[in-house]
Amino acid sequence: MYLRMHESDQPALHWLSQHRAWMEDRLLELVSINSGSHNPIGVNRVGEYYAALFAERLEAAVDKYTLDPWQRVSMQGQVIEQELGGLWRIRKRPDAPIRILLTGHLDTVFGKDSAFQSAQYQDNNTLNAPGAADMKGGILVMLSALEALEQHPDHHNIGWTVLLNPDEEIGSPGSSGWFAREAPRHHLGLVFEPALPDGNLAGERKGSGNFTLSINGRSAHAGRNPQEGRNAISAAAWAISQLEQLNGAREGLTLNTGILEGGTTTNQVPDTCVVKFNIRIQRPDDADWCLTQLENIQLSINQREGFSASLHGSFGRMPKVMDDAHQSLYGLLKNCAGLLDLDLSWQPTGGCCDGNNLSSHGLPNIDTLGVRGGLIHSADEFICLDSLTERASLSALLLFQLARDGLPPGLTGREVTL
Ligand SMILES: [Zn+2]
Repeated sequence: MYLRMHESDQPALHWLSQHRAWMEDRLLELVSINSGSHNPIGVNRVGEYYAALFAERLEAAVDKYTLDPWQRVSMQGQVIEQELGGLWRIRKRPDAPIRILLTGHLDTVFGKDSAFQSAQYQDNNTLNAPGAADMKGGILVMLSALEALEQHPDHHNIGWTVLLNPDEEIGSPGSSGWFAREAPRHHLGLVFEPALPDGNLAGERKGSGNFTLSINGRSAHAGRNPQEGRNAISAAAWAISQLEQLNGAREGLTLNTGILEGGTTTNQVPDTCVVKFNIRIQRPDDADWCLTQLENIQLSINQREGFSASLHGSFGRMPKVMDDAHQSLYGLLKNCAGLLDLDLSWQPTGGCCDGNNLSSHGLPNIDTLGVRGGLIHSADEFICLDSLTERASLSALLLFQLARDGLPPGLTGREVTL
């Protein structure tokens, strides 16, 4: 497809090019608020900050929703409930001919007790700060691209919904239902996770599941009556050796045993052991295959006299496959990038994000439209500040293009409900 820069795109793009200082100031305020996934008060403060900006600058309908608590299995094998922050939905022109779902997460991986809480300039263009790239800067990119769209003469052709969720970094356990409900109402999705430091995007993504295997045996004295004990750690060790054999059993399948806890002292046969592990899969139908393997391991332990095992967890994120609709959408974005003299490409990744959720509900999406940055999920996380306006311009151009010329081939066949 041949694209050219239209005259009608210029005023809003010019406005964006002057917008870095405003974005940078907002970012500095946002990164100073801790919003670890397990800190709902901080997550809500960040949500309120963005909600006020969306309401004021875009005159959109802003609503906050409460999510059900997150149920997880403790290392003692108990199911516990944990409060999550709220979810915001922001909408404008929901009946427009082309409807776009934009998503961003308010949470970061840095909890209240993390040592990494403040921002530091490494040079004029590099800011080291918690969540700066992942993805407080990304939501500012989203906001500014929408603001540019609202200035564009063709903006009435596009209706948009923004979802800001509080729990992406823990797998979106409370917000995934929102993606399922909103995906069918839209033609495409835009997610503002960070791009790679060189500006390239993620394409295909693996699916991911987190699981907990809790094993109960029977305690006994290690010297007096060990024969009466049923050692839960030994059973877990067997289970782990079985789990590890799943690595590579299907193309691209990886399994990581991440946490193990059991026992209290060496002179007692331990009666509980909890194992937490993560599985990544390349193809959607590998999920069912994996679940069967896990159930077989659980069953083997349950068949041993004196032992019981329970299994919790699921594939919260299915693989994102680059089908024709995705190729078409990425192709359009690449052309838009060309107009900004950016050479854009994309590569497969084992990492997951809400783009997986959207594509599992049939919504083609690009999920790394946020800022350029790197070393995310570490205390060295950084954002390249010039990418705030660069990436806002890229998303804005994509929106202008869609508003003017409609959906690209490959996306037109999709049935969209109201
Ligand atoms: Zn993220």
